[in-house]
Amino acid sequence: RAKQRGRDAFHLFDPNHDRLLQVRHEQRQRFVDALTNNELRLHYQPQVDMRTGQVVGVEALIRWQHPDLGLLAPGQFLPTIDATPLEVDLGEWVLEQAMRQLVTWQAAGIALPINVNISPSHLLLGNFSQRLGELLAQYPSVPPAMLKLEVLESAAMHDIQAALTTMAECQALGVNFAIDDFGTGFSSLTHLRQLPVDLIKIDQSFVRDMLSDADDMAIVESVIYMANRFQRPMLAEGVETLAHAQALIELGCELAQGYGIARPMPADELPQWLVAWPLRADWTALGKPH
Ligand code: C2E
Ligand code: MG
Ligand code: MG
Ligand code: MG
Repeated sequence: RAKQRGRDAFHLFDPNHDRLLQVRHEQRQRFVDALTNNELRLHYQPQVDMRTGQVVGVEALIRWQHPDLGLLAPGQFLPTIDATPLEVDLGEWVLEQAMRQLVTWQAAGIALPINVNISPSHLLLGNFSQRLGELLAQYPSVPPAMLKLEVLESAAMHDIQAALTTMAECQALGVNFAIDDFGTGFSSLTHLRQLPVDLIKIDQSFVRDMLSDADDMAIVESVIYMANRFQRPMLAEGVETLAHAQALIELGCELAQGYGIARPMPADELPQWLVAWPLRADWTALGKPH
């Protein structure tokens, strides 16, 4: 009875609260169904060396093929499962799917590493490296270096000691790391130097406006300078135009990903894209003398 009264008292202050909780619960339940009903897809976005035109890898990006709403981008459903156990379920699904894709491509003669985005709570769960080891053991034909884990700069900084431990364990398995959205997470140079990452991804928000915004240009220049001094490869996200590509090459950043090169695509469209890409002379001859 006291409980009942408590609930009524609560309603006096916020009549919508229960309703909101219920909506969130329903959304999460719907996502559980999506996982079991095979409604999730990975799309792949190529990463290239702008100097040589070589394709160096792909990033796996989650999509939800919703029966009523169509193809949903991660921004439309990841916030619902943020910091819930579903985030880990999704993460494990994505990792397994990427391993299967690597096997499929291996058979087709396509040898491109896959970058997988790992959510902070998944990485810092405590048994991440153990589960990763188990997964790798299930796919013995796939070299662990074909998998690269993208970790948000902010996630690594949130609990640097835990992140460093887990990352070192994964590295011992042969799996490499990229630091994602670099420039947005306030990491100190000391921390950056400690992180076992072999790719720094410059956040697309800085790249997008670098040609019109002097502050963004300054950030891009600083990240490139620092990555070079620490001898870490770097990649620019959000490369949409040839002007971006040219400016980045001049600044010393050669790896890139962005709509100008390719949008994320279903796995079965990638072979065709790989054939067409070398023919796009404007993009693939950027490093050659004019
Ligand atoms: P992210 O890892 O930084 O991925 C890059 C995002 O930028 C992707 O958005 C990609 O489609 C978009 N993008 C690529 N090139 C361009 C460009 O030239 N211009 C613009 N405007 N955008 C570009 P998407 O696919 O919507 O993913 C958004 C974020 O969702 C990702 O950011 C990542 O943080 C997260 N995410 C995606 N897939 C997964 C996943 O499987 N697991 C987890 N935990 N997070 C994921
Ligand atoms: Mg990423
Ligand atoms: Mg990013
Ligand atoms: Mg991002």
